[in-house]
Order: sequence, then C-alpha cells, then structure tokens
Amino acid sequence: MIRSDIRDMAAYPVPNSEGLIKLDAMENPFSLPAELRKKWAKMLSEVPINRYPDADMLALRSKIAQRDGVAAEQVLLGNGSDEIIQMLLMASDAGACAVPSPSFVMYDVVSHWLKRPVTTIPLNKDFSLNADSFLQICGREKATIAFLACPNNPTGNMWSRETILRIRENFKGLLIIDEAYFPFADTDYLDLIGDNVLVLRTFSKMGMAGLRLGYLLGEEKLIQHLNKVRMPYNINSLTQASALFLLEHSEVFDAQVACIVAERKRMSGALQAMVGVEVFDSQANFLLLRVADADKLFQDVLAAGILIKNMSKHHDLLRNCLRITIGTEDENNQLLAALEGSLA
Ligand SMILES: *Cc1c(COP(=O)(O)O)cnc(C)c1O
Repeated sequence: MIRSDIRDMAAYPVPNSEGLIKLDAMENPFSLPAELRKKWAKMLSEVPINRYPDADMLALRSKIAQRDGVAAEQVLLGNGSDEIIQMLLMASDAGACAVPSPSFVMYDVVSHWLKRPVTTIPLNKDFSLNADSFLQICGREKATIAFLACPNNPTGNMWSRETILRIRENFKGLLIIDEAYFPFADTDYLDLIGDNVLVLRTFSKMGMAGLRLGYLLGEEKLIQHLNKVRMPYNINSLTQASALFLLEHSEVFDAQVACIVAERKRMSGALQAMVGVEVFDSQANFLLLRVADADKLFQDVLAAGILIKNMSKHHDLLRNCLRITIGTEDENNQLLAALEGSLA
C-alpha cells in the first residue's frame, strides 16, 4: 500500500532537546521584548480563526516585496521555504535535480518523494564549488533544476559571485539560489533574478522559525506559474498576522541578527585559538568545526547540557565535523567551556 522506496526511507530525524541548550538547528536564540510580546498576543487574539486565511496574501506579499525592493507580484509565500522547494520540484520540467554535495538535505529528500533523479556535484575539499564541473555534470545528467544554497548549509561558506555568474550564464534549467542565511551574510544574489533564476528566502533563521514562513522572489511570469501548485491556504491566519505585525518591528530582529553576527566572529576567533579545532569561514548563523574525534566531542558537549549537530557521518568531506549554531553570549561561553573541557 505504501511505495517500497518510501517504506525504506528514514523519517527526518529531530533529536529530543528537552532541558538542553539548543545550538543544533540555526534558530535565533533571542525572544521578543516583553512589551512587543504583549502587543502581539493582543493582536493575535483578534484574528478571526473561524474564517479561512487570506488566500492571496497581498498585504503580506507587499510588505515583503517592499523590504526586499521588488514588486508584490514577484513574491510567492510558502509554509517555510521547505514547502517552496517542494513546489519548485513539482512544477519544473522533468529531469534531474542538481545539487552540490554536501548541501541542504531537503533538495534531495523532496526529489526522492517526487521520484526525481538527483545529481550531486561534489564540493572541493575547502567547500568551494567548481562552476565548470557543476555545468559539465548538469549537462551530462540533463539537469532541469539546480539548487545553490548561498551561504551553504552545513558548510557556512558563500560561493563567489564569479562562480554563480558562470553557472547562471550556462545552465539552461531553473536555477534556485537559496538565501536562507542572507540576514547574516555580507552579500546576496537578489540582483541575479531573471528568466531562469529565482531567489529563495525565509524568516526562520532570523527569528521566526516557529511561524513557518518562507518566500520565493522571481520574475512575475514564473511566480504566477509556480503559484498554481501552491495549496490555497498554505499560510495560516496566525502566521500571516504575526509576520505582518513583526515586520512592522523589524528593527528588533535587525538588532538580534547584528548580535548573532558579532558573536559568530567572537566564537570563530575563540575556536581558532583552541588547539585541535579547525574552524571554517562562515557567513551564516552557525560555524562548522573539525576536530580529531567528533563523536567524543559531541557526547562530551551533550553531557554538559548542550545540543549541537554532529555532521561526521553525513558526508566524506564532513568527517569529524560538527556544526554549532550561534547562541546568546552566555550559551556560547558555556559551549566554549564544554569544548575546552572535552579537548583538554
Ligand atoms: C533551514 C534552511 C531552509 C529551510 O527553511 P524553512 O524556511 O524553515 O523551511 C532552506 N534552505 C536552507 C539552505 C536552510 O538551511
């Protein structure tokens, strides 16, 4: 009754984090100021939940469009950007989905659900991406869609503009630039939107992961077609109202993001100074580390009450690598102490 390939699949693993400092999932560690929280709660109490949500969401799309300097017609909203990845894979031409490896796992996972072949292009040892091998493999495997996470997850690095430009100029399929971490990065590729290029963004990493709201930016014509495979009421009323309200107070998130970026720099320096730790450059709200024994370090850190992500078994290039999300100053200091203890 259930497809055999689905039966053989493992469900997406979410570890139990009860009672732990949670530095595993790229969440913003800060909560909302109490005053704002109160106003937000009052506003939510007035949302008519007996009615279906606004299906067109023009107000929210306009707000987002204005923030990012595009037109409301260029914005498609998803229940997290994960849902938009699914829409893109449903609506695009049949053929292989090309993804660098290692990268974000959902491109691969959703392709499998939809029985689309996946073509992986290995990153270089320093996690850079070779545009020519990318294009060569895409050509050979007849890829019709490609996802480039900029910055990349789980490595944290940003591929250069030259690399992205070279791929854009020569790739004939749909090119999705996934900017889930753009609030933390020095550059973005929004200006590259065009005939076959779309930019995917989300509010998750900057502080609204619980709302589940992602969005796609692109040319109006493409957005119109993709909108046809969107579930009519995919963004619930509480999320729509919350996002509209919170984006009116975006200075709160801007300050939190600035704080996370400053902490990332401090953590990177502190970790570099530790013997036995290699730290990779990151433009996101996390850092990738390599140590001699990632399994031991992960367990020691867990025993100290902190959950991070052990990437060691995910990919050959990630052997003995761990990914740590940047937390509050206090959380980060506790992590540093736990790492020091484990490495001593
Ligand atoms: C976290 C992440 C997403 C998914 O974000 P949601 O909007 O929460 O679904 C997409 N792409 C990348 C690269 C990510 O790291």
